[in-house]
Amino acid sequence: MTKGKGGSGVSKRARGIAAEELRRHNLATVLGHVHRRGSASRSQLTSLTGLNRSTVADLIGELDDLGLVVESPGVAIAGPGRPSPVVHVRPDGAVVLAIEVSVDSVAAATIGLGGHIYNQVRIARPRGHFEPGTSVRDVSELARPLLAALPTGHNLVAIGVAIVGVVRREDGFVHIAPNLGWRNLPLGELLSDELGLAVPIRIANDADLGALAEYRRGAYAGTSHLIYIAGEVGIGCGVISDGKPLLGAAGYAGEAGHMMVNPGGRVCRCGATGCWETEAGEEPLLRRVPSVSATSGLAAVDAVSALAASGDEQTLRAIAETGRWLGVGISNLVNVFNPEVVILGGLFHRLFDFMHEAVGDGAARAFAAPFDMLKIRPSTLGADGELIGAAELALADLINDPAQFARIQPSGV
Ligand SMILES: [Zn+2]
Repeated sequence: MTKGKGGSGVSKRARGIAAEELRRHNLATVLGHVHRRGSASRSQLTSLTGLNRSTVADLIGELDDLGLVVESPGVAIAGPGRPSPVVHVRPDGAVVLAIEVSVDSVAAATIGLGGHIYNQVRIARPRGHFEPGTSVRDVSELARPLLAALPTGHNLVAIGVAIVGVVRREDGFVHIAPNLGWRNLPLGELLSDELGLAVPIRIANDADLGALAEYRRGAYAGTSHLIYIAGEVGIGCGVISDGKPLLGAAGYAGEAGHMMVNPGGRVCRCGATGCWETEAGEEPLLRRVPSVSATSGLAAVDAVSALAASGDEQTLRAIAETGRWLGVGISNLVNVFNPEVVILGGLFHRLFDFMHEAVGDGAARAFAAPFDMLKIRPSTLGADGELIGAAELALADLINDPAQFARIQPSGV
């Protein structure tokens, strides 16, 4: 840094840039707070940001001008002074189209600021390998009526997509989605072309987005060290560490379904032997319950659940064995990441009541210190967690820098 007389102009400019950065940061803090936590009074936002009242009023004014928040008069409470006005998000000020492409279904939702769901729809698909063009058209057909039903004057800002596969976040390139039969697919490009909406598209792995949804909107929202594990055909896993998604260099991290738990086990779809999902996924569960005739899918898991509820011994033993293997994998994650809570989604959520003791037994092989502080819980977001996470991903660019985003936005979308 230049010092002395000659540098004073530079440092003044630097100070100007720093002040601008700080203002943008504060805008993001205020908008992020009301988006994630709900409406807040001006005085709450003042203590949250540590800024003075007039600066907070300016920030709220700017967010109001951008159409992202609105204020209402505060409610009078006992004590001196006027009640502090309350700041609310305007859900239609920033709306996203959220999409989920999973093995058994395709889903779409229109979701606004504050997590407000305008509409959502999910269609079941028979399990199998889908031609990408068919899936992209399915998505488009689902989305169009939802978009048409949005309120007049809404501002569509982005599209978020959850995909059951290994995807490059930068451009939505799917390297491999084994359970859809996709490999090296420019999904971001295909969806953009089909939907024809002039907004950015963000695509990420479904389990990573399930973790993000739990972190933002689940029963353990705000827990800084959280792991989400979903069982479908395979096992998906998303890790939030120190309040941030743990993604790896390009977004490929978290493929815990393919961590080895049984060297003498079965060959996995990925080609390796003894992967976690060969012992704890849907397929091993159904293998252990031969009395269920369906070999895969939601109907098969429902049948297992019904048998367990009727007290069928063999089914209960099969669920317990699957649960123990699930726990063994969790114990490895606990030793590596020391999460405060592990949240179970998908089939683990649906069978939680029958398997949670066995899961705990399996997980107990972790070191005592991280295990003793661990909670293992079923998801409260149910089947729509990944969709909610896709919306959070799509809204992130706007929330992180509202003023800049508004500047680059095409108007009147
Ligand atoms: Zn594998």
